[in-house]
Amino acid sequence: MRSISNLKFTVDNNVGKLTKWLRMMGYDTSFFNGRDDSEMVANALKEGRVILTRDTRIIERRVVTTGRLKAVLIKSERPQQQMQQVIEALNLDSQFRPFAICMECNQPLQERSKEQVKDRVPPYVFRTQSQYMECPLCHRIYWRGTHWQAMVKKLNKFVEYKRKEEF
Ligand SMILES: [Zn+2]
Repeated sequence: MRSISNLKFTVDNNVGKLTKWLRMMGYDTSFFNGRDDSEMVANALKEGRVILTRDTRIIERRVVTTGRLKAVLIKSERPQQQMQQVIEALNLDSQFRPFAICMECNQPLQERSKEQVKDRVPPYVFRTQSQYMECPLCHRIYWRGTHWQAMVKKLNKFVEYKRKEEF
C-alpha cells in the first residue's frame, strides 16, 4: 500500500474544487491557475506530482503517454464524482489525515496549545475545543468545529462508496 505522504498532486484550474478535498485528506496539493500548461507539466514533473485535469491535450502529451508523468483525466463536471474518480483511480485509502495541511496555502499545520490560541479564536470555540493547529504561513487557526466535521463526514462517504464497489 502506498504511504499517504508519497502522493502529491497538481490540480488544474478546470477541476479546482479537488484542491480543497485533497488537502483535507492530507495530501500535498498545488493548485495551478496559470495559463501555460507547459509550466504546469514541468512543475509536476520536477516535484513528482500527479496532475488532475479535464484537459485531454495534457493527457495526450508525450510525457504522460510514455508514463514519465502520471495524470488523471477527470470525467465528471461534478466535484463529488470527480473526487470519487480520484479515490478509485489512485486507490486512495480510508486513512486520510484531515487537519494536517492548510486548506488555503498547502502548508503543513503545526500543533498549538489552548493557551497559545486563547485570544485568537472565538470564546465559544475556546470553551469547547481542546485541539488546535496553526498554519505557519497564513496563521489561520484550525479546530475540529462543525464545518470541519461535515467535511470529514463527506470524505468518509466517498471512501465508503469505494469500499462497497470492491465487494
Ligand atoms: Zn495557510
